[in-house]
Amino acid sequence: MIYNTFGIPATADRYITVSAKDELLDLLQHDTLLHTKPFFVLGGGSNIIFARHYPGTILHLENKGIHLVQELPQSQEVLVEASAGENWDSFVQHCIANGWHGTENLAAIPGTVGASPVQNVGAYGVEAKDIIHSVHTFEVSTGNERTFSRDECRFGYRDSIFKKELKGQYIVWSVTFRLSRTFTPDLRYKAIADAIASSGIETPTPQQLADTIASVRWAKLPRPEETGSAGSFFKNPVVDATQYERLKAEYPDMVAYPAADGYKLAAGWLIEHTGWKGRSLGRCGVYSKQALVLVNLGGCTGQEVINLADAVTADVYKKFGITLEKEAIIL
Ligand SMILES: Cc1cc2nc3c(=O)[nH]c(=O)nc-3n(C[C@H](O)[C@H](O)[C@H](O)COP(=O)(O)OP(=O)(O)OC[C@H]3O[C@@H](n4cnc5c(N)ncnc54)[C@H](O)[C@@H]3O)c2cc1C
Repeated sequence: MIYNTFGIPATADRYITVSAKDELLDLLQHDTLLHTKPFFVLGGGSNIIFARHYPGTILHLENKGIHLVQELPQSQEVLVEASAGENWDSFVQHCIANGWHGTENLAAIPGTVGASPVQNVGAYGVEAKDIIHSVHTFEVSTGNERTFSRDECRFGYRDSIFKKELKGQYIVWSVTFRLSRTFTPDLRYKAIADAIASSGIETPTPQQLADTIASVRWAKLPRPEETGSAGSFFKNPVVDATQYERLKAEYPDMVAYPAADGYKLAAGWLIEHTGWKGRSLGRCGVYSKQALVLVNLGGCTGQEVINLADAVTADVYKKFGITLEKEAIIL
């Protein structure tokens, strides 16, 4: 079995699955290997590149369950708890079926519920942080349970405290989301508004919105079951106003969006303008429909992914003076 969407065969000293709290607790409190050798929690493997044999334990959570925790009648909101091992898109579909709204724009993102706060997944104007209420975890070193409030998660762009200060220290067991009983379609993204309009729909239902999001997504991104990838391989870089003005003067058609701390540049545009779109190195390629995505052309190794990523990064730096940061995690 290959447990990563890039389709890279990989091995580890140990691969353990856990589906009950007691099992996890037992492991954290009594398994010495877990505390003396490297340890990594793997979700759906949709943002991971395995570059070599993993010299430790890979833990995969298979806990399941989605339930309504609380109705908040005054605000028309609900608190819904989902287990970390749930598939993200199944969770989105479950919410839609139950009339709990807010997840629609995040439809069809590969991966698990457990990874959603770690990564602060986002798409088409919505991020996990917009709907997360709290995150329930186990501390790796003690087995103690701890609930993080939304603020304590310190969410950033594809980022959270679980990737930074507390990296590797907590296992997400479940996530509680604050969703709404009322549905207001979020059509801020032009591609989504255009797709809705062109299908003749005036006001989409939640299911129509999620289906449109999925079809817009798969028109530009490779489906993991067909072509191996980790989705967006690089983060969109944020630059300050001075650097933005300088680049804009030189490249007037450069794609950029105002961000809290400057301007977010479209990494895909930068890569495309170094000439890498559709090109390859070894068995790893830059996707022909979206230069932000690196793809497995068949039999690609983790090292080949790194080689291509390094070559692209070097050329973007040479042309634009910008260092691309990887969104995908190299193990
Ligand atoms: C085709 C494609 C399209 C994509 N599109 C998007 C997109 O639009 N938006 C977006 O944000 N992402 C996107 N991604 C990236 C990916 O879907 C997300 O990063 C997703 O959250 C990864 O989930 P996963 O379960 O596969 O996590 P993994 O890739 O297995 O792990 C990611 C990180 O989360 C940690 N982790 C996972 N589960 C737990 C847990 N229970 N407790 C603690 N840590 C945990 C891992 O240790 C690792 O650090 C895309 C990927 C692909 C392949």
